[in-house]
Amino acid sequence: MSDADAPKDFIRQIVADDLEGGRHQRIITRFPPEPNGFLHVGHAKAICLNFGIAAETGGQCHLRFDDTNPVKEEEEYARAIEEDVRWLGFDWGEHLYHASDYFDTLYAWAEHLVENGNAYVDEQSPDLIREQRGSLTEAGQESPHRDRPTAESLDLFRRMKAGEFADGAMVLRARIDMASPNLNLRDPVIYRILHQAHPRTGDRWCIYPMYDFAHGQSDAIECITHSLCTLEFENHRPLYDWLVEHLPVPARPRQIEFSRLNLSFTVTSKRKLLRLVEQGLVDGWSDPRLPTLSGMRRRGYPPEAIRDFCHKVGVTKYEGVTEVALLEATVRDTLNPVTPRRLAVLRPLKLVITNYPEGHSETVEAPNHPGDAEMGTRQIAFGREVYIEASDFMQDPPKKYFRLAPGAEVRLRYAYNVTCDEVVRDTAGEVIELRCSYDPESKGGGGRKVKGIIHWVSAAAAVDAEVRLYDHLFNRPDPEQGGDYLDHLNPDSLEIVQAKVEASLADEDPLQRFQFERSGYFRRDPQQPERLVYNRVVALRDGWAKIQAKAKT
Ligand code: ATP
Ligand code: MG
Repeated sequence: MSDADAPKDFIRQIVADDLEGGRHQRIITRFPPEPNGFLHVGHAKAICLNFGIAAETGGQCHLRFDDTNPVKEEEEYARAIEEDVRWLGFDWGEHLYHASDYFDTLYAWAEHLVENGNAYVDEQSPDLIREQRGSLTEAGQESPHRDRPTAESLDLFRRMKAGEFADGAMVLRARIDMASPNLNLRDPVIYRILHQAHPRTGDRWCIYPMYDFAHGQSDAIECITHSLCTLEFENHRPLYDWLVEHLPVPARPRQIEFSRLNLSFTVTSKRKLLRLVEQGLVDGWSDPRLPTLSGMRRRGYPPEAIRDFCHKVGVTKYEGVTEVALLEATVRDTLNPVTPRRLAVLRPLKLVITNYPEGHSETVEAPNHPGDAEMGTRQIAFGREVYIEASDFMQDPPKKYFRLAPGAEVRLRYAYNVTCDEVVRDTAGEVIELRCSYDPESKGGGGRKVKGIIHWVSAAAAVDAEVRLYDHLFNRPDPEQGGDYLDHLNPDSLEIVQAKVEASLADEDPLQRFQFERSGYFRRDPQQPERLVYNRVVALRDGWAKIQAKAKT
């Protein structure tokens, strides 16, 4: 089945119907981030949906910064957002916009509402306005200013704009229905006074439109056909439609809601991520443990894996939590077929081959990929002393342990069989060296058949590398349940080990990912190019397979 024939999600179905029925000739969507933090995996879902639909239908998708709220750091966040969207593989072409580009039009439309008796200036305090809003069971209370003459509201609104009043002295409210069952229709505030410079419009404005007013009208100005947003805006749709209805807009976008992406063992909210960053609990927004796009990029996730993941998650109205293991499995599945293999020992234990000629060395041949002969082979140095994983030796092994133990024989992958003759310990009793003998006949698969095969690197040839092993940032699948999510940080989310790796790795393209056999997928840390530091992209063990197996039994 080709992708075009695949069953469509409900939004793609609406879009297809609108094209087929002639409602639209061309689809225009938008991704509208607020530049108040870095993008995370939830945003990736919205980006893939909006840019994806535009690409699939030959339409266009706008990147629009929702910058109605003047905040300081905006510029840094905006640049990071652009970089992240591009990295994810999408392009807005010339369609980069800002809600602030529309401040003049939005202001004119606000006056239009006033002139038509659809908006009024309310001089009550914000607290009082909130109190009078009522509740789900109780109607709201009308403001004493609700029926003031149009000319009076217009005059006050113009003076608000001219800077005559202090912050909070008055607001502009849409005049809709204080008894509406939908609280968003109870005369919502659409403009407020804020004597604060804006990064793009400077000191030009001291009144700013509220999100609900700016957002839908920006959609209309850009002739967006389908305004896709998350479910929390479902209750805002009647207001969205009311505003479009009552304004001289050039287009009537349709708002459609879908469920947010939530991931287990993490948080996907810029505000919550910001706390982690500000309190120094992580290494900035691009900490590899964060679900931010920049964190996933630094960690070594390929963007196509994130796109594939979003495709698997799909688009529904069902509110659920997606297993982070599905994301990890997708990364693994993306990397496995294309990623060359190398040998690396993360926690080295020295193994000396006592019957191997001193001063001698040789190379052994290893395939770069077990499933893809076209990736070729390489020669690896082998000698009298090698390092193996400390965890590949046990003093008192349980049954069915096929790795090294006193008297046991294993294969050093691609090289020889070795038998453990002697265990050397330090004064504290820690194993510091294994003394073994090898079978010279067993090179490259000859000799006795043994059950255990372990990996190794030559002690003489290997180079040192720092390896960073990441685990979930939180120690429970639902960190937001049960108190403050910061109380559920996993203290072992980062483990740094001093590894020994195949010498050739030092000369490889730093962006190249490798599978370190039996350990996982790794890539050099782009933030520390001067040192040999590897981030573990993802481990080999497949937690997702376990979850699926469990679900079946
Ligand atoms: P946050 O809670 O992280 O601040 P937000 O919704 O306030 O998220 P925006 O910058 O306003 O962040 O979001 C831009 C777009 O991304 C919106 O259309 C929003 O609906 C969508 N989006 C945000 N978070 C998610 C998510 N977890 N899943 C899917 N879409 C999301
Ligand atoms: Mg928001």
